[in-house]
Amino acid sequence: MHSSAFFYGFLGFQKVVIFARLIEGHSHSHPEKGLPNRQIEAVVAHEFGHWRNRHSEKGLLFWHFMQISTVILTLWLRSKEIIYQAFGFPVDQPNAIIKNSGNMYLPGMLIAYYFILRMYHHFFQTMHQLQQREFEIHADQYAIQLGYGTILEQALIKIVKDHEGFPSADLLYSLFHHNHPCLLERLQRLQEHQHNRRNSQIHQNQDQNNNRGLQ
Ligand SMILES: [Zn+2]
Repeated sequence: MHSSAFFYGFLGFQKVVIFARLIEGHSHSHPEKGLPNRQIEAVVAHEFGHWRNRHSEKGLLFWHFMQISTVILTLWLRSKEIIYQAFGFPVDQPNAIIKNSGNMYLPGMLIAYYFILRMYHHFFQTMHQLQQREFEIHADQYAIQLGYGTILEQALIKIVKDHEGFPSADLLYSLFHHNHPCLLERLQRLQEHQHNRRNSQIHQNQDQNNNRGLQ
């Protein structure tokens, strides 16, 4: 939950950090700001969702894959003559700069990275952002499992209100620029998940009752 609490770390080093501004009454000039204890519990339940679903490890793995694959592709592309030709380097002349410079040719690396791999990098950054947004939804769903669904909704509304945030954003813009879904999108996903959970529990109870009737 940005600007109020977050989870970080992996393996034996994992922490949930809560900002003091999340706590009700932290501000003497604005005593109405902050969350009551139950809503803070809901926020912590959300952060536990990141821990339970191993979001730190998954995010780190994805980020490293992106970085390492970018380096490998840059190194591979730097020796491709077509890159130099495309940017006007004389690769077919006897004294061509590419022939005399060996494999570690800096201009080739710069061209490969700045003009070609940037697109690749942007693509992965967008994928990383979409992954982060989905992690938020999964962490919310874990808070619902712990029984904090409605309280988390109240907490999210209060956080946005306290920070005078805007509750909505254009979905396309948000997908590319926000690593958290906007409030309305998040509330909608929370309510959908709670509704589905209630329905599946009702069906489970009905099945159990039917089975008892048959015995
Ligand atoms: Zn979160």
